[in-house]
Amino acid sequence: MARPAAAAPCPLPTPGWQRSLARRLLGWYRRHRRDLPWRHTSDPYQIWVSEIMLQQTQVATVVPYFNRFVAAFPTARALAEADERDVLRLWEGLGYYRRARQLHRAAREIVEGHGGGFPRDLEQVGRLPGIGRYTAGAIVSIAYDLPAAILEANTIRLLSRLVAYSGDVSSGAGRKFLWQLAETIVPRRNCGLFNQSLMELGSLVCTPKAPACGVCPVRELCGAFRLGRQDQIPRTRARPPVEAVREASVVAWHRGKVFVRRRADGERWAGLWDFLRFPIAARRGDALRTELAQKVRQQSGLSIREPEKIATLKHGVTRFRITLDCYRATCRGTRITLPSPEWRWIEPDALEELPLSVTGRKLSRMLSDISPRA
Ligand code: SF4
Repeated sequence: MARPAAAAPCPLPTPGWQRSLARRLLGWYRRHRRDLPWRHTSDPYQIWVSEIMLQQTQVATVVPYFNRFVAAFPTARALAEADERDVLRLWEGLGYYRRARQLHRAAREIVEGHGGGFPRDLEQVGRLPGIGRYTAGAIVSIAYDLPAAILEANTIRLLSRLVAYSGDVSSGAGRKFLWQLAETIVPRRNCGLFNQSLMELGSLVCTPKAPACGVCPVRELCGAFRLGRQDQIPRTRARPPVEAVREASVVAWHRGKVFVRRRADGERWAGLWDFLRFPIAARRGDALRTELAQKVRQQSGLSIREPEKIATLKHGVTRFRITLDCYRATCRGTRITLPSPEWRWIEPDALEELPLSVTGRKLSRMLSDISPRA
């Protein structure tokens, strides 16, 4: 099979092009930027929280989470002093829970290593847990107006189109080139506004499909527009296919309480609490009852009897489309004392206090309609 042709080297833009880009972008941003809560502050803590929440998550979803989070934890010190359970509870439904745990750890490092004040130095910021090169650049440029570059999904698309970069933007060489480009074009002044305008234009105008070139303020500077190649740039690798998975969740009852466990480090949704949950192969009859009983015993040591299906929930985790069959079951009287404080028997009402996954929360809300069987 013929190998794809190597991308032609792409020259970095001239100083005149860069000045024109900055002027057009800043003018457009002043007129068209969305009114978002984190744009009313230069507090690096709040900008950091917003940047972490915005990773992999839509702006409209983030806004209410951001408002609740900074109201509950208005400073890095307040976050550092919080219980992880409360942090995760406020993050519940936002997904990618590792972000919240790293935010919490980083807040503790800010208190211990920096006296509670957010560092200004790009390298120090980049050493905090959960803060990569993009996030560090975004925080110091937006909060302190320091000339730090950024590169994330919107700017990868916009920059590669602007210079008509025909290489694979997900390759090492592609990333290296785009970071070099981002560092070249970031201006000495108004760097935070410039970076935000790049992201905003990428998000609102230079969209992945059907970019609105007709209203784009930088189309005269855009290589992809000039060549009519907006639909072919950026070039990316094919995504792995979506995989269908079946899982079961079992609400195990004992004396009016249900069993929950805190998911361990390294597991999906680490730090959240959950009912018993595992992959399941059998579909019906004795084979299903036997597999449910075995897997409940393996995961918890509990013995259940007569599991009964109460719901089927569908959800996605990364590239997996999961069908979750939910069961209730009563525990037999063996191994009712739990060996770990991270495993609990709990009144259904008390689940409101614990951080749960989205499907765990849906299941918990059904429990008021489901009484334990005798
Ligand atoms: Fe994107 Fe079109 Fe603007 Fe080029 S002209 S930056 S492709 S919206």
